Amino acid sequence: MAKQEDIFKKVISHAKEYGYVFQSSEIYDGLSAVYDYGQNGVELKKNIREYWWKAMVQLNDNIVGLDAAIFMHPTTWKASGHVDAFNDPLIDNKDSKKRYRADVLVEDYVAKIENKIEKEVKKAQKRFGDNFNKTQFLATNQRVVDYQEQVTSILKRLGQSLEKEDLVDVKKLIEELDIACPMSGSKNWTDVKQFNLMFGTKLGANAETAMDLYLRPETAQGIFVNFLNVQKTGRMKIPFGIAQTGKAFRNEIVARQFIFRMREFEQMEMQFFIQPGTQKEWYEKWKENRMKWHLSLGMGEDNYRFHDHEKLAHYADAAADIEFRFPFGFKELEGIHSRTDFDLGSHEEFSGKKLQYFDPELNKNYVPYVLETSIGLDRMFLAVFSNSLQEEELENNTTRTVLKLPAVLAPTKAAILPLVKKDGLPDIAHGIIEDLKWDFNVTYDEKDAVGRRYRRQDANGTPFCITVDHQTKEDNTVTIRHRDSMEQERVAIADLKAIISKAVDMRTWLLKMK
Ligand code: ATP
Repeated sequence: MAKQEDIFKKVISHAKEYGYVFQSSEIYDGLSAVYDYGQNGVELKKNIREYWWKAMVQLNDNIVGLDAAIFMHPTTWKASGHVDAFNDPLIDNKDSKKRYRADVLVEDYVAKIENKIEKEVKKAQKRFGDNFNKTQFLATNQRVVDYQEQVTSILKRLGQSLEKEDLVDVKKLIEELDIACPMSGSKNWTDVKQFNLMFGTKLGANAETAMDLYLRPETAQGIFVNFLNVQKTGRMKIPFGIAQTGKAFRNEIVARQFIFRMREFEQMEMQFFIQPGTQKEWYEKWKENRMKWHLSLGMGEDNYRFHDHEKLAHYADAAADIEFRFPFGFKELEGIHSRTDFDLGSHEEFSGKKLQYFDPELNKNYVPYVLETSIGLDRMFLAVFSNSLQEEELENNTTRTVLKLPAVLAPTKAAILPLVKKDGLPDIAHGIIEDLKWDFNVTYDEKDAVGRRYRRQDANGTPFCITVDHQTKEDNTVTIRHRDSMEQERVAIADLKAIISKAVDMRTWLLKMK
């Protein structure tokens, strides 16, 4: 555990040191669970957003984009169920005065059992070597089978109690599992209460006539209320999707995990409108498609898993998370939800306006069903950043810190380095930048010895360093150094664009989804 915590601390400090993520309003001691993205963070975030948008909107001829406002008519949130049901169960520890999400306390307890299973697997793997059969081991090792049964029964009970809003049983479960406050060790708990996560605000200058508003807790509702606008003006035929990226706000009870759980964050959501009755098929298709998108980034198949929901939200008839192995364990990265006709049906009811589609194939009107994919951009940022940060032991007994970001997402694609600050080498380097900057984000660096500059770019995640030396003046060639392998080759300046393109183009990466 201590090791995991150390790794996570390194991630946070590296993100700050290299201009990726800063605490919001740091000079005033910060604002809890609110973060700012620095000069490199903003580029990485933009690249992730574009990677998603390209895959979702531009490569699918039946999906279009939208940019709805953050403020929405307050009835939206009654219709969506957020006013009544967007709650988290909270529990306080009477001794430490610390507040927790009751479901998260139980889930963390379960994660510890899962860690034990993983340890047993690793031990057995070592013992049996090449003969190890993981599936068989998981099914037959009595200790592991017992652990797994424990996990299943705890999650089932939690799911059922939350579904029935039986908060007394949630507290009972915490007591039965003997869960202590992680800060103080105390087991002196209050009752579990529901807490609404929406931020309220007001619209209008006059106190009497001002309207109560909410900051949107998800981007999805902007899509639902525009369903007919887009369908009609775009002449969209079902099945079709509307995608949107944008800020969402949640007054999270506990927000202690850096940009994993923020109070202001960004979502990338897509609502796919389908014929009623086809939702199972589309649910499976979108689960598969989204997993392929993640895997295309090459961050390791073992780092992802699906988690099917026991407790379904009020709008869903099926739901799964794509979980990622963050430095603090497997946690939700993206949700795939089969939302039925709940949202459009409910907006019809509350607005009194028909939100139906005339299906020429079936020759009838209906309220479409909806399949949703919803991913947090900041969470994806954390997944990419934490997975990429590595410390490597080199042959000369030194370590190098390297941020092995997928090249397609890296903020800076190449650093151009004159070997020395004289003899006309800086001019040649600037000339290369002038040419490359139209296609890629590139940077110039002439300070310190070239070895130190390489390390600086490694830690920054830059896939290529291009060094201009005296030979360049004779034959127009440069050295290109690859971040991950540290290999260097001599290439013509005229070939640089093609070499970098091949490594960083979205086409190269997204074709891996096929
Ligand atoms: P969790 O169980 O972690 O609170 P959720 O199930 O409430 O998440 P959804 O409502 O399905 O999350 O939101 C979709 C996605 O938005 C999540 O998969 C996550 O990536 C992201 N997300 C949700 N809440 C936050 C937050 N507070 N900070 C950052 N990202 C978030």
